[in-house]
Amino acid sequence: MKVELEADKCVASGQCVVAAMEVFDQDDDGIAVLLAERPGAEHLDSVREAVAVCPAAAIRLVEK
Ligand code: SF4
Repeated sequence: MKVELEADKCVASGQCVVAAMEVFDQDDDGIAVLLAERPGAEHLDSVREAVAVCPAAAIRLVEK
């Protein structure tokens, strides 16, 4: 799987970090930072959760 983050849409809510802290972090302004563009399958559920809870719809999961 590949994770795509549109940082210009991010509203710095931090929900993605709560859902998947191995995959997302936040910079000093709270904007999400992608730690792993292609995380392992063991993170699939948590990344899906991050996609679902992001209030800005800034995260996409591409299954390839
Ligand atoms: S959940 Fe969405 S809006 Fe919130 S920090 Fe993550 S990418 Fe940004």
